[in-house]
Amino acid sequence: MDCIFCKIVHKEIASEIIYEDKNFIAFKDINPIAPFHILIIPKEHVPPLDQIELHDKELIGEMILTAKKIAENQATLQSGYRLIFNVGRDAGQTVDHLHLHLLGGKKLLWL
Ligand code: AMP
Ligand code: ZN
Repeated sequence: MDCIFCKIVHKEIASEIIYEDKNFIAFKDINPIAPFHILIIPKEHVPPLDQIELHDKELIGEMILTAKKIAENQATLQSGYRLIFNVGRDAGQTVDHLHLHLLGGKKLLWL
């Protein structure tokens, strides 16, 4: 499968990885919209949120807890952060491998 995030997982494409464990990696977004902007993704190819099913609930929970753990270790996020799943065209979703945006480092506007 030709998936850019799978290539990042397998280190076939360079990225700035800031966290990695058995199930997830987190790396800097190439086109950041905040001073701190990373993507947290499962290492296995999982489709986007609109195709997630009940048996994926543990994975989604772990993903959010991973984001929380990363955020707790970033000095710049102690004043707050935002987690985002973009789903579908109107949200600007461009990659079909499940990913969670973690943003912060400034006071974020609400849309
Ligand atoms: P989304 O719009 O939710 O599908 O987000 C996909 C994100 O992936 C965008 O914010 C892109 O800037 C980011 N992105 C695409 N290619 C790369 C890459 N090679 N390395 C890091 N981030 C990327
Ligand atoms: Zn993938």
